[in-house]
Formats: sequence, structure tokens, C-alpha cells
Amino acid sequence: MEANGTKGLLMEEGLIFEKSSKGRTGVEPASFDVPEASAEALIPKNLLRDDIEGFPDVAEIDAVRHYTRLSQWNFGVDTGFYPLGSCTMKYNPKVNEDMARLPGLSMLHPYQPEELSQGALKLMYELEGFLAEISGMDAITLQPSAGAHGELCGLLLISDYFKSKGKPRTKIIIPDTAHGTNPASSHLAGFKVVPVKSEGKGVLSVEAVKAIMDTDTAALMLTNPNTIGLFESNIKEIAEIVHKKGGFVYCDGANLNAIMGIMKLGDLGVDVVQFNLHKTFSTPHGGGGPGSGPVGVRKALEPFLPIPRIKKAGKKFKLDYNRPKSIGRMKSFYGNFSIMVRAYTYIRRMGGEGLKRASEAAILNANYIKEKLKDSYALAYDQPCMHECVFSDRLQLGSGVATMDIAKRLIDYGYHPPTVYFPLVVPGAIMIEPTETETLETLDKFIEVMKLIADEAKATPQVLKDAPTKTKVQRVDEVRAAREPILRWK
Ligand SMILES: *Cc1c(COP(=O)(O)O)cnc(C)c1O
Repeated sequence: MEANGTKGLLMEEGLIFEKSSKGRTGVEPASFDVPEASAEALIPKNLLRDDIEGFPDVAEIDAVRHYTRLSQWNFGVDTGFYPLGSCTMKYNPKVNEDMARLPGLSMLHPYQPEELSQGALKLMYELEGFLAEISGMDAITLQPSAGAHGELCGLLLISDYFKSKGKPRTKIIIPDTAHGTNPASSHLAGFKVVPVKSEGKGVLSVEAVKAIMDTDTAALMLTNPNTIGLFESNIKEIAEIVHKKGGFVYCDGANLNAIMGIMKLGDLGVDVVQFNLHKTFSTPHGGGGPGSGPVGVRKALEPFLPIPRIKKAGKKFKLDYNRPKSIGRMKSFYGNFSIMVRAYTYIRRMGGEGLKRASEAAILNANYIKEKLKDSYALAYDQPCMHECVFSDRLQLGSGVATMDIAKRLIDYGYHPPTVYFPLVVPGAIMIEPTETETLETLDKFIEVMKLIADEAKATPQVLKDAPTKTKVQRVDEVRAAREPILRWK
């Protein structure tokens, strides 16, 4: 069949150091028309760098080809379908990039006086307003630089709230369907994690929370929709139980792309939520690039938000540092501003109705894949899903084929594998998030390939065990690759 082939003019590429030829240069500066002075005479000795040993001497074209070739080894959303569950690898409109690169925004110095930064302050102020409206929260900070950083911020707010009342609380309840960063952030914020099981139902039960919620518990932290792609349907009743004992409900809102415009987390009793602007609000991410994880809170937690806060005074925007209860700073300056510009552009361009349609399309796409593949792969939970669906390798295990083999075989057909072996509650999980930006044709082609792989698993399992065969590097020992990486290309 005709798949997204991985054949073609993929160049080999060595290290740039290996291309070096002593004395070769990319750029020759014009000759001096001012008196020459030695560096030592102008710059203190301790600030002068020695020669860099082995620094490559290459021509401009060598440098250009080197980095262009390396970039072609990369796979991204702009290359092809990238159904990595939980990560929301969706198309990021280029107009966002154009706006983030406007000189008036990109060249702005963070310490430029307020009166010369009114546009940027206004943009941030309005973005806070949009996020408050989308989530149903009272106040927003844009400072944290990623989802997990936002979680930490939210938990520190909760911690300081109880300390300020003179009654610190020590525990956070976290269900097994939460994202892995939730327990890590709770631990970092100084809390003890109390796990609670979803007991095969895929969502948290009211009884399970009732049994463990007490007045030493600061918050219940849940991901909604959760990491199985299911909506936590008991959330309202659960929130009531938590609130009765004086606790907060923290919602990990990284998966907001399934609910924005349809419902508000605030209406469900959520008190704190973090957003992943780099996922839902379309910023290219992955590979550790900059993100942004704003946090929304209810009024009770507002005094604790990081400084500075953006205030509107008449027609002017100001930065307010005079907030004695604030937890302080989460990040230098005001957070990752360029990501905010992208999110702002995306929201303005989509409008409320557009955001709702994005969520609806994300849900529709995931359910389409779920229905089309459920005869070929075992569904973890056979019920309508939100923006992602979770299969397992249960039907393939009999032929000795596991999730990892299926994932590797997808690469041979030109697809980035889905998220595998996560969430942990589903053994051999294959978690597919198509996102709203993919066309029906793309989904159909992917489904066809997934079915083909299921057939291969039965007829020729060894093909899957040997996959990928069309890539530069074939199957690696993943544990050894992580522990003893070989970073030199031979
Ligand atoms: C991605 C994700 C996170 C972590 O976000 P980062 O920006 O990677 O720190 C947390 N929770 C959920 C549900 C996520 O999908």
C-alpha cells in the first residue's frame, strides 16, 4: 500500500567538527577603518576567553547544510501526523509566529518602563481575562513556564493559604488517572501524596474520596479529562465533599482542548487550574522548548498569586509588586512572553465559538479513531472518550507482539508513534490523541496503517519485532541508550 514513506534523500551527516579545515571561514569582515587595539587592552583578563580547542573552521555553506540536514532528521507536527496522547501535538497556525516576531513585541526589553510597555501589558492583561472566562476562575497568573511549573505554583498558593490561616495542611489526594507530574509537583511543594484508585472504572468515585478526605488534606488534585481520555463525571459531587472539609479542588487543565468553550471548570467546583498554553493554545512544543503554564484561581487564593500582578488603572496598565501575601516569583520577569503572544493570537483568531468547535472536533476525531480501531486493538474502556482514546496490546500479546513493536512499526509507515505504556493503569497502553487539526483523510490513512499492523502482528510478527527498518537507526536497546548514550555518529 501507499503509505507515508520514509524513503528519500535523507543525507548522512557527521559532526560539524569533522568538517573543519584550519583557516576556512564563513564570513570575512571588511578591513578595519579604525585603529586596531588588542582585546587585552579593552577587556579585563578574567572576562577574556581562551581559544576554543577544536572549534570548527567551516564555510557558510557547510554550516547551512549541517544544520539543515540535522533538521531533516527531526519529526514534527509540520512533517506529519503526530498522535502523541496527552501531549497535544497539534498544528500551530503560522500567524501566531508572525505576531510573536513583531519587532514591537519581540524586541521589547522586560525592564523597559511601564509607560513604554503598555501594549505588552495590555496583551497580558487581556489574556488573563480570556483564560479566566474560559475556565470560570476569578484571577490568573501568567508567570509559570510550563504545565508542571503551573502545578507547583498552584500547590504553593494552596500551601500558603493554609499557613496564613495558622493551620497548615499536609496532604494532597491524587487519583491513579492523574498525570505523572501531579504527584511530583505535590512532593516538591512539600505535601504528602495520598493515592486513590479509580478501580477499573476509569473515573474517580464519590465513595473513594469520601473515605479518605479529611481536614489535614489541602487539596484533591485531579486531571480532567483524565489521562485515560475520560471526563471525571463525578467531579461536582467530589468537589462538594472536598469543600465541606475545607480543602481545594485542583484541576490539571493540560487537556483543556477537550472542554474549552463547552464547559467551565469553575462551574464544576474547581478552585485552581493550570493551563498549558503550549498545548491547547497552539505553541510548537516538544524537545524542551519554552512553554507557558498560567494558573487560574478563585478569589480566596488571589492574594497569594506571584508578583508582579498586572493592574489596570484608568486606561493605563501597571505592575503591582505591593502584595504582602504573595508567594513571590515563579519566574524571572513576567514568564515566557512570546508564548503568551501566540496564545493571545490564537484565542483572538478563534473566538469563543471557534474554541468550542476546536474542542468538539478534537473529541469527534478521537472517537472516530476509537470506533474504527476497536476491532483491531483492545480498548481499555469501551465508552465514549474525550480528546484521546486508549488501546492496549492485549489482542496482540498472543503472537508475541507488544505495544513497543506496534509503535516501532508505525515509524516504518511514516507516523510518529502514539504515547505508549502510559497511563500506567492500562497495561501496554497505546494512547492516541489525534487533535482537532487533522483531516478525515489523514485519520483514515492512519487507521488503515494501524489495521495493517494488526494484520502483520498475526501473520508475520517478526516484521514488527524487527521494526523500524527504514530509519537511520533501527531498534535500539532503550534502557542502554538512556544510560550509556553514544552521541557520536559513525
Ligand atoms: C503535558 C501535561 C502536563 C505537564 O505539562 P508540561 O508543560 O510538560 O510541564 C501535566 N498534566 C497533563 C495532563 C499533561 O498532559
